[in-house]
Amino acid sequence: MKILVLPGDGIGPEIVAQAKKVLNKLASEGMPIELSEAPLGGAAYDQFGSPYPEFTQKLAREADAILLGAVGGPQYDKLERPLRPERGLLAIRKDLNLFANLRPAILYPELANASTLKPEVVSGLDILIVRELTGDIYFGQPRGIRVNDNGEREGFNTMLYAESEIRRIAHVAFQAAQKRNKKVCSIDKSNVLETTEFWKEIVTDVAKEYPDVELSHMLVDNAAMQLVKAPKQFDVMVTGNIFGDILSDEASMLTGSIGMLPSASLDANNKGLYEPSHGSAPDIAGKDVANPLATILSAAMLLRYTFNEEAAAQRIENAVKKVLADGLRTGDIFEEGTTRVGCSAMGDAVVAAL
Ligand code: NAD
Repeated sequence: MKILVLPGDGIGPEIVAQAKKVLNKLASEGMPIELSEAPLGGAAYDQFGSPYPEFTQKLAREADAILLGAVGGPQYDKLERPLRPERGLLAIRKDLNLFANLRPAILYPELANASTLKPEVVSGLDILIVRELTGDIYFGQPRGIRVNDNGEREGFNTMLYAESEIRRIAHVAFQAAQKRNKKVCSIDKSNVLETTEFWKEIVTDVAKEYPDVELSHMLVDNAAMQLVKAPKQFDVMVTGNIFGDILSDEASMLTGSIGMLPSASLDANNKGLYEPSHGSAPDIAGKDVANPLATILSAAMLLRYTFNEEAAAQRIENAVKKVLADGLRTGDIFEEGTTRVGCSAMGDAVVAAL
């Protein structure tokens, strides 16, 4: 089980260290886990002058699965775009053909009060957002900032989806729904954007292969509203890269903290890059206050999706439930009557609960 660890920037090294404790615990019990490490993002720029250097690329291609912290930080914001940390993340996703991003939003009953929504609206929430990750306006060419014919500067990007890209992500969504509540809601902006009108047509066609799954369609603006109004209506939501980026962050906040949510980005053979849904949180980096649970739960997803180690995945998830039930909270999910702990102590508690 060759796992490449990419700590990244900001809180990345702190939270990844906690997930490593969990994986090392499983390794000490005999699971054949082999960890290696490489820089990505700003850390890679500092060391190699590139956010996704060859050193990292070689190890990433060799690994069975990759565990990432997060990338980015204000000190890199003035770099030329191709050198910025976020480009490293886009590059590794593209390089490894990780086209399917699975982002669960699950509300742990202990954290119902951490949500800004009423507990009755969110309790029992269990949504899976399936986001296409290697296409759309984030990658479409042409793109840039130029001077137009009137001598005015303008910015432009291209929203683009090939039929094959839509088909393969639709299959991922329908197959995921078959293992859940058998409902897929496809999100588009087909009333305005031709690209997503085409998306809707292709998803509808793929649905014919999954008669046991109920397909519905929703415009992205309505989906944004419904997520805060009645989020429990959703089972699997499937959408393109930019809408998925925004909706999955919105869905994450239904659960109270972005610090709780793992994600998986898979290729066609279940090789995956696993990472928390949040960013590098430079505002709290280096203070040992970040919530490591999203990263630890990402390690659980890694065992489940890449290695088919369902029992080990559940064991980690149950350990996380136990520390929450024991009242341990990092600052982002702290409330009166619970015990505030730091990042490292939270990692230790999960290992103890394992
Ligand atoms: P962010 O997710 O890093 O932070 C948003 C807010 O949530 C901050 O207040 C932060 O303190 C808090 N937060 C995030 N993770 C937390 C955790 N584990 N525990 C406790 N609190 C947590 O988003 P941002 O501030 O918009 O971006 C910061 C940097 O991260 C930027 O450079 C951005 O480009 C980058 N980023 C990276 C990724 C990624 O690596 N996948 C994703 C999003 C943003």
